Parts: sequence; C-alpha cells; structure tokens
Amino acid sequence: MTARIIDGKQIATQMRREIKEQTEQLKQKGIIPGLGVIIAGDDPASQSYVRAKTKACDKAGIYSVDEHLSADVSQEKLISLINSMNSNPKIHGILVQLPLPDHIDESEVLLTINPEKDVDGFHPTNLGKMLTGQKAPLSCTPHGIIQLLQKTGIQIEGAEVVIVGRSNIVGKPLANMLIQKNDTGNATVTICHTRTKNLAEHTRRADIIVAAAGRANTITADMIKEGAAVIDVGVNRIDDATKKKGYRLVGDVDFENVKEKAAFITPVPGGVGPMTITMLLYNVLEAAKNTAAKS
Ligand code: NAP
Repeated sequence: MTARIIDGKQIATQMRREIKEQTEQLKQKGIIPGLGVIIAGDDPASQSYVRAKTKACDKAGIYSVDEHLSADVSQEKLISLINSMNSNPKIHGILVQLPLPDHIDESEVLLTINPEKDVDGFHPTNLGKMLTGQKAPLSCTPHGIIQLLQKTGIQIEGAEVVIVGRSNIVGKPLANMLIQKNDTGNATVTICHTRTKNLAEHTRRADIIVAAAGRANTITADMIKEGAAVIDVGVNRIDDATKKKGYRLVGDVDFENVKEKAAFITPVPGGVGPMTITMLLYNVLEAAKNTAAKS
C-alpha cells in the first residue's frame, strides 16, 4: 500500500479563502478583525514564525500589529503591553510568541491575556472550557490536526489514536479534543512520552498516529499497522550540505518507508504546519465575530 499524502497546504489554502470571505463580510458591518502579536528577543525561528503569521493575516484581510520587545524586557512591561491590547477594541486576538526569555514567568504572562482574546487557546480558562465540552478558542496545532483528519475523511469516532508527545501545546490538548463527546471526538486515545515502556506496542495498535516528539525517525515503518493514518507534527533540522541553508526540515516520521505501509500520511513541510497558522486566523475571526455579536 502506498499512502495518500495529505496536502496540508491545499486544505489550508481553501480554509484561508473561506476565512477571507468571512472577514470581508464582517468588514461590511464595520469590524476589522485584529491580531496583536508580541515577541521578546531575537530568536530567528520565533521571528520567522511571527513574520509568517502577520503575512497570513494580511492576506486574509486581518489587521495585525507586531510589538517587538528586547530580550531583557521586564515582565512588568510585557504585562502592561498585554493589558493595553486587552483594552484595545481594534485588537480581537493577542498572541505572545513562545518561548519567552528565561527571566519571564510564562504562565503569569499567558494568564494576563483576556481569555476572550486568547487566540492561541493556551489560557487555563479556555483549556478548562474545552475539557468540559464548552465553546472556547482551541489551540491551533491540535485544532488544525482535527481539521486535516476531518477534511481528508479519516474517521475519528471509534478510532484508536496514539499520540506521541504530551506537551501543553500539542499532545495534551489534542488528546482532550479527541475524547470529547462530539462530532470531532469520540476516539479512544493513548498518550505516549519518554517514560512509555514500549512505544511500538502502542503505535502498532493505532488507526491514527500523531507524532509530536520533536525527534526525527521516532516513528518507523515497523511501528505502524498497515493502513494507519500518520500525522507528523514534528519539525526537525537535519544537516544537509546540498541545501543552501546547510540543513533541511524533516518530521518525526520516517516518511519514505512509512508511506509504503500507511493509508494516509502528512509531509513535513506542507502538512500540519500550514494548518496551525490557519487555525490562528480562524480564532481571530471568531473572536471578532463574538465582538460583533455583542455590539
Ligand atoms: P515538546 O514540548 O518538546 O514535547 C515533546 C514531547 O514528546 C514530550 O512529551 C516528550 O516526552 C515526548 N517525546 C520526545 N521524544 C520521545 C520519544 N522518543 N518517545 C516518546 N515520546 C517522546 O515539543 P512540542 O512543543 O509538543 O513539539 C513537538 C514537535 O512538534 C517539535 O518538533 C515542534 O517543532 C513541532 N511543532 C510543530 C508545529 C507545527 O505547526 N507544525 C506546532 C507545534 C509543534 P516527555 O514529556 O516525557 O519529555
């Protein structure tokens, strides 16, 4: 069996088109969806993520403002900037690019964001709402994965899903979304991590595997069952002298061999990545719609 490659770029492009249409409709009512982005420090990867996010906003007709702070910014200054965005009616969503410099208390900062403007879905209020099945902005990467599965026609209900990775931004929220008693849930979920005793024993049972370990070749062909759907979240740099930058990006899955056994597989790049930014745009639009509904 050779897997169908799930084209995250194409699915994301279609969704972004729909988001743009809805943004235009909202503008007719006098509301321009707005995103405030805060970045502290000069981490090149973070800077490139922020550039990609603001560019995507621009294309979708979403207003964005990008506040770049120095790496030695005080926690008070960061919090005061969030508070000013909390009270700015032009800003419907706030995104603080992680990681923050070491001297900043990340959870304290994220708690400052008004949960209604929490377009990353990281605020404990929103995580609690999601856990208890209430409407809330959903974390972008897990939500993007669910969209990929749904739009590819992969059945989630009743599926055995094995997630490799238990981070607060991918594994934990995704597991909770997939066990909800709703039409994007009803799966049976196992989460694996570095203390899991026999990883392959779990992954071989899975109808759907989500690899979010951040290590190349974590999932090899012998670890999956024939016909599984394999979603690769990982983004890893591998030295490659043939590339201009001296490296190339790979996921957590041994793509070439796993694709010969799986029924569906996402590539890296071009799978989950484009969906993450798309769900951010979606959350900004939803936050703006909520504002419109209140006015
Ligand atoms: P993270 O916070 O480092 O978490 C990695 C998780 O994987 C941890 O729970 C760790 O277990 C587990 N793990 C690592 N090696 C493992 C192994 N060999 N076997 C089993 N479990 C293992 O990473 P993250 O932030 O969730 O990100 C994961 C990957 O996804 C990274 O490559 C990141 O760049 C990528 N990512 C991509 C997107 C996107 O939009 N494409 C978005 C977010 C993240 P312990 O808890 O026991 O340490």
